[in-house]
Amino acid sequence: MSAKLPALVLAVLAGCNIFGPQLETTGRMRLEPTPSQYEGWHAEVQDCLGRARSYERIEWFVADELYYGGAEIGGVWSSPDRITMRRDHVGWEPSVKHELVHYIEQVSEHGPEFLRCSGILG
Ligand SMILES: [Zn+2]
Repeated sequence: MSAKLPALVLAVLAGCNIFGPQLETTGRMRLEPTPSQYEGWHAEVQDCLGRARSYERIEWFVADELYYGGAEIGGVWSSPDRITMRRDHVGWEPSVKHELVHYIEQVSEHGPEFLRCSGILG
């Protein structure tokens, strides 16, 4: 594990399922094409959770910068079907899977399934 990881975990912790004016983005756009590994990661998270929700319904976005309440975050799920990843988290499996747990479960609270199914709790 790199020394950077705790900071990333904290960054993701602050950032999930956010609505309204506290979320700030720059350079936000549709993530196209969607990375080829995402559908497999979605299937893995579904299997881990024992619950299914359509992969096709997800609207993927990417942002150059992503802040919540002034803190930099790695990704955010916006209920019900939108996931925005910060550009440097697009290829980071734990961060993407973390947002997929939010989406598949449709929950904003962080239960133990986040650690179990994405590798990061917050
Ligand atoms: Zn979260």
